[in-house]
Amino acid sequence: MTQRRTPGSNLWVTHEVDRSEGATARAANIAAAKSLAEAVRTTLGPNGMDKMVVGSDGTVVVTNDGASILERMDLDDPTAKMLAEAARSQNGTVGDGTTTTVTLVGALLESAENLLEEGLHPTTIIEGYRRAAEEALDQLRKVSIDVDPTDEAELRRVAETAVTGKWDDESARYLSSLAVSALTDVAEGDSVDVRNITLQSIPGGSLRDSEVLDGLSIDIGSSSTTIEAFDVHLPDTYESASVALLDTELTVDSADAVSHTSVSDAAQLRDLQSYEESVRVEAVQQLSELGVDVVFCQKSIDDEIRMRLAREGILSIERTRQDEMHKVASVTGAVLERNVDDLALTDIGQAPRIDRRSVGTTDLVVISTDVPGSHVSLLLRGGTEHVAEETKRVIKDCFSVAQLALQDKAVVPGGGASEMALAHHLDTFASQVGGRSQLAVESFAEALEAIPRTLATSAGLDAIDTLAELRTHQHRGETTAGVDVVNGTVADMRAEAVLEPLAVKHYALTNALEGATMILRVDDIIAAEQTGGDHDHGHDHDHDHGHGGLQDTGGYPWAVGH
Ligand code: ADP
Ligand code: MG
Repeated sequence: MTQRRTPGSNLWVTHEVDRSEGATARAANIAAAKSLAEAVRTTLGPNGMDKMVVGSDGTVVVTNDGASILERMDLDDPTAKMLAEAARSQNGTVGDGTTTTVTLVGALLESAENLLEEGLHPTTIIEGYRRAAEEALDQLRKVSIDVDPTDEAELRRVAETAVTGKWDDESARYLSSLAVSALTDVAEGDSVDVRNITLQSIPGGSLRDSEVLDGLSIDIGSSSTTIEAFDVHLPDTYESASVALLDTELTVDSADAVSHTSVSDAAQLRDLQSYEESVRVEAVQQLSELGVDVVFCQKSIDDEIRMRLAREGILSIERTRQDEMHKVASVTGAVLERNVDDLALTDIGQAPRIDRRSVGTTDLVVISTDVPGSHVSLLLRGGTEHVAEETKRVIKDCFSVAQLALQDKAVVPGGGASEMALAHHLDTFASQVGGRSQLAVESFAEALEAIPRTLATSAGLDAIDTLAELRTHQHRGETTAGVDVVNGTVADMRAEAVLEPLAVKHYALTNALEGATMILRVDDIIAAEQTGGDHDHGHDHDHDHGHGGLQDTGGYPWAVGH
């Protein structure tokens, strides 16, 4: 294996077999990124087209979510991977705006292509783009709209904007209002800890049966119905309930008992039975003496013990998931113990009320809290498991945008309005920049228009006419004029309640700049032989690519030069 230093760079390259440099390399990279961006771009907005992604294993997914498309594509091309990285970073930071980010990277590269043809040096373009982005971020703040954190209706509109098109309009509205209602219940001022919201999807019923419950809801499956089969009726409600949490199974360890006992005659069998009996009696007695009403066990509880507990009026719930155990602990103050013997009075948690109720084919217990709204549960109903899961995703999208709007107390007009406003501002700003960078700033402004242009096209509008109309509005200082894709007109996005969190746009710009810059910087592609060793992937550590950058080049050692 030969190793040598690439001229003009600080990178070591391992046994190269193929190489392209400078303009050729850059052109190839730009072309690759642009074609991927183009595929994702047309999914933008509520009217975006669906894409069918066929996996290498033959699985087919139809989606119009930019993030899911990129996630599912088998991306071999290193440039495409850089683009996907920009999207992933956007998704990871704010959970929305990935299509916007990818569209912007594509548009920035397309503009850069023209500048390169005009003879601008890549570093001049990068510098111009950077100045433009900085100015745009400043201006974005200025066109943002203040949000009152207590204004639930406003937050609902932000959530609706994020999920319109992902579901039918009515359901999208309904889910947005449920999500925002849960969020504002647990919000303390402008901060929300989503861990205080439990999402539970229960197949069956209709979406409209979904509801927000005050307290922590735990799906107990058939735990309580089997008890009813013993002919013991447990209360549906426990007031001032005491709760115990156990880590191990609540059974008689008969394997252990058998190994010490040979059950060859009737007397020994009786011994074994009475041993088992005493273990059960002790466990039940211990829980009963501690005044426990409900016991959650992470593993199984044998039927005999469950029945005896039921006779004492104690509801026993087996196979509770670990995360649910932790939630019960945090809501009731109960301490998880390994064995019944280890339980002390101080381990017992308290809840003002615990209700047991049937929902669909399952049973739930709902543990209320001392402070109403300190924990809520969102019970999601509807159709199949697939639908239920999809609903969960929509709810999470609502959570993340509403949360961002709460944190920043600011939103920006959607429908391409804020991009238009920034483009308009940058056109003026460009003249102050002067020199060759001015061209790059103007190109950045042009690239921003890709968002309203795409939305206009998807709404069946003429892109050129629409952009001209939008520019006229911007000239008049109407920074909220955007494309109303639902009605197919230019409209005031604030009045139409198409609002997005400031943070989503902020990061879309930042990540797009970073993605485009990263691709423009590459001027040397070196395809090395697959060595399988721990060779340097050629990542230039002098550059801050943010968010962890590209960790894995997936067997494509490539070099970043200057
Ligand atoms: P992303 O992955 O970038 O979030 P989306 O497919 O969610 O992509 O589309 C977001 C874009 O759609 C934003 O520019 C947003 O302003 C716009 N949008 C959402 N709802 C509407 C609407 N009702 N009218 C116009 N534009 C909308
Ligand atoms: Mg979105």
